[in-house]
Amino acid sequence: MDYNLSNLGKAKGLDMMDLLSSVWAHNTLAEIERGEGIYLYDKQGRKYIDFTSGIGVVNTGHCHPRIVRTIQEQASKLIFGQINCVIPETTLALAEALNEVTPPEINRYFFTNSGSEATEAAVKMAKFTTGKPNIIVFQGSFHGRSHLTMAMTTSKTMYRQRYQPLPSGIFVTPFPHPYRFGWDEETTVSYCMQQLEHLVKTQTAPEETAAIIIEPILGEGGYIPAPASFIQQLRQWCDRHQILLIMDEVQSGFGRSGSFFCFEQSGVLPDVIIMAKGMGSGMPIAGVASGEELMHRWNTGAHGGTYGGGNAIATAVACETVKVMQEENLPSNAQAQGAYLKQRLLGLQEEFGGRIGEIRGRGLMIGMEFVKDGQPDGVTPKEITKACAEKGLLLLTCGTYNQVIRWIPPLVVTQNEIDEALDLFESCLKQRLQA
Ligand code: PMP
Repeated sequence: MDYNLSNLGKAKGLDMMDLLSSVWAHNTLAEIERGEGIYLYDKQGRKYIDFTSGIGVVNTGHCHPRIVRTIQEQASKLIFGQINCVIPETTLALAEALNEVTPPEINRYFFTNSGSEATEAAVKMAKFTTGKPNIIVFQGSFHGRSHLTMAMTTSKTMYRQRYQPLPSGIFVTPFPHPYRFGWDEETTVSYCMQQLEHLVKTQTAPEETAAIIIEPILGEGGYIPAPASFIQQLRQWCDRHQILLIMDEVQSGFGRSGSFFCFEQSGVLPDVIIMAKGMGSGMPIAGVASGEELMHRWNTGAHGGTYGGGNAIATAVACETVKVMQEENLPSNAQAQGAYLKQRLLGLQEEFGGRIGEIRGRGLMIGMEFVKDGQPDGVTPKEITKACAEKGLLLLTCGTYNQVIRWIPPLVVTQNEIDEALDLFESCLKQRLQA
């Protein structure tokens, strides 16, 4: 369809962009018409290498042919069947597909539209099933931008400013980042465990704490993987205090970290998994998964919503996404390409030792932290990503100070495509750092 964009919006004498709410921040003003694999194209046919994956959404690449076919076929069969009124077959199929990629103990699924909604649902489930009111979150985490999830988010003050007071009952504990603390991993893990214990001794008793929620790789907070030993100790600590362990896999899930879910790499079984983003290859779909016993205690009717069971196209696409991930071995491609990408980034770190403080991450979820005079550098990453965008490479930043460039290409990326992106990046980096 030709949207004839130049004529739309003119009716009220406005420029096209004026019609959009100014609340959206824009990294670029590229008006995109079409996407294919790792590439996006604008109306003039200009090609962009998309290493944002739409903030970690299009893990199967833009317009994967199997995803496109699924949408087309499903649209001609059923678009929406409301879960309280009927049982859409695609919702059942999605639960079945997910059941194949989750640990055997996880076997019940609730669906909704976005990561924030899924996080809210997981918190409601934790409160309802334990009868306890409070939640512990990690310093620097990001769980969404609805009121409750804003209260759970401490990656940047900006997300909360002028929205206070936020819902209560949220307590914050330090996230184990050895580089930031300047300690080795063991010291950092031990300190963070002590602080967690301190929190339940000083602010929220275990008897009042329903759950602790963790991103196995801190996402918006700076692409910081939690050491496996920390997640293992956290599991034991939760068991000791009868507190549920919730994994927010919204950004790290669906193959991104090199395994289907990132928590698998620590050998720990969470009580609840939250998933979204990559799950729908661009369709709005999210999920909360748990074991039978826990989900069963969440009484029928205690939660829901119009789109609770998922839109039939979105659920069909999520189902196909799982299959594409399995059949095209996307988690192992993320591992292999991630190792290659990391190695090239480490080469750049060596070259610009003083300015690139840390390269970290798992699979194709890699952060590159910039420093200046030993402090987080929140200026250079924005300048470099802007220069890259002008040359046709889309990258995002993250971290509390915007000090991190994140590397999250679609998981279908090849080594040649990584080289193409990195060659471009390298020239912008050198231009900026050697200036
Ligand atoms: N959790 C994490 C870890 C996220 O990265 C995000 C989104 N960046 C969310 C939750 C919220 O998801 P959504 O934007 O779909 O509401």
